Amino acid sequence: MKESIGTTGLILNDPLLWEKGKKGRRGFSLPRRDVESAPLNQDLTGDGPDFPDLSEVDVVRHYTRLSQWNFGVDTGMYPLGSCTMKYSPKTNEKQASLPGFAGAHPLMPTNLSQGALRMMFELEQYLSQITGMDATTLQPAAGAHGELTGMLLIHAYHKKQAAPRSKIIVPDTAHGTNPASAALCGYRPVAVASNEQGILSVEAVDEVMDEDTAGIMVTNPNTLGLFEENSKKIAEIVHAKGGMVYCDGANMNAVMGVVKMGAIGVDVMQLNLHKTFSTPHGGGGPGSGPVCVRKHLEPFLPVPRVKDENGTYVLDYERPETIGKVQAFHGAFGVMIKAYSYIRSMGPENLKKASQLSVLNANYIKETLKGTLHLPYDRPCMHECVFSDEYQAARKITTLDMAKRLMDYGFHPPTVYFPLVVHGAIMVEPTETESKEDIDQFVEAFKAIVKLKHSRRS
Ligand SMILES: *Cc1c(COP(=O)(O)O)cnc(C)c1O
Repeated sequence: MKESIGTTGLILNDPLLWEKGKKGRRGFSLPRRDVESAPLNQDLTGDGPDFPDLSEVDVVRHYTRLSQWNFGVDTGMYPLGSCTMKYSPKTNEKQASLPGFAGAHPLMPTNLSQGALRMMFELEQYLSQITGMDATTLQPAAGAHGELTGMLLIHAYHKKQAAPRSKIIVPDTAHGTNPASAALCGYRPVAVASNEQGILSVEAVDEVMDEDTAGIMVTNPNTLGLFEENSKKIAEIVHAKGGMVYCDGANMNAVMGVVKMGAIGVDVMQLNLHKTFSTPHGGGGPGSGPVCVRKHLEPFLPVPRVKDENGTYVLDYERPETIGKVQAFHGAFGVMIKAYSYIRSMGPENLKKASQLSVLNANYIKETLKGTLHLPYDRPCMHECVFSDEYQAARKITTLDMAKRLMDYGFHPPTVYFPLVVHGAIMVEPTETESKEDIDQFVEAFKAIVKLKHSRRS
């Protein structure tokens, strides 16, 4: 193995500023005063705040060091499964900070916001095309918020049929937010187990689907990184009993422009722009979870809808069946611009290629590490692969031990202990933006970590 990119040297510990301060140190020096001193305002002369006395260099070093104790996609590989921590091209940030966009205000009249509205209108269309759905709302603020919006749409649909229902089917390979979103909407989540291949079987769904079930929520690709191959047949079963099919599309990075979700029976789904479409994920920044629907759910979408009236973009509030607003103003506008810029700069062919490469990279890791780590579902994966610590258990080495050691080698650890269906899960999502060299280094680091350096016998 080449020299690892991690380091064990020159990482300086930094005490709190209060421990570092020393009475009499100053951050500045003023010239000696040449006027009489005057007392400060009485209110200010009591005990001041307990600030430490520090020099300028103390402060600069303290904060500069803290800033370097950070790890991000811009500093190294971040294979955090389910999170799609891929590199987001800087040009998309640049477009989002164009003064016309950055300075736009949501309360500006529509005739002065034509560019912004057009961008939103077109982005909705692109997302509908990429997913194979009919209409999109950009309002929801994140993935889980999109799920809740989708549940509200399904609820509105059944209410209109004058037949509200009480349950939602959620497989055990769903993301944890799925049952939570269903419950938040007042539905009772009904768990259904995945089969020995790690996907949902038609029979399992057939067994639980009934006329009091509003629909099914399927994460696809699922949290084992596997494509739900029986989707279409499962959708037919759910539809036959009047239910709706919800797809958690947070993992769209595996199937952009490859799978037309509408064609495999999905009625409603959300996307995570902050995973797939060029907004960095995490750190508390804004996200965006647009919801795409088929025609029959479109009347229920949140207001306002951006409408093209002969080349003029207007905001349409006159939608009697709408579920209302789900977000202040129009959504996370900056995130939308980055997604728009990303989609326009990639084009349909390259979006597809990005997905294909993300799948290739994950399968490469799966194949190169499978002798080293136990692979519970040994079959082609999508954008991520899930291992376990079973091979290391005899030596009492756990997933957590390996994840921590990986940091010494300069890698952000993968997602650990999730999904719950795999004991000691290690979920690796390399994404399409990692080179083969970087992935090889990651694989080598993993191999080095679990290697028995000295056999006890010899
Ligand atoms: C990340 C993720 C979510 C939740 O998205 P948030 O934006 O964090 O709310 C839901 N489902 C899946 C499959 C995810 O990977």
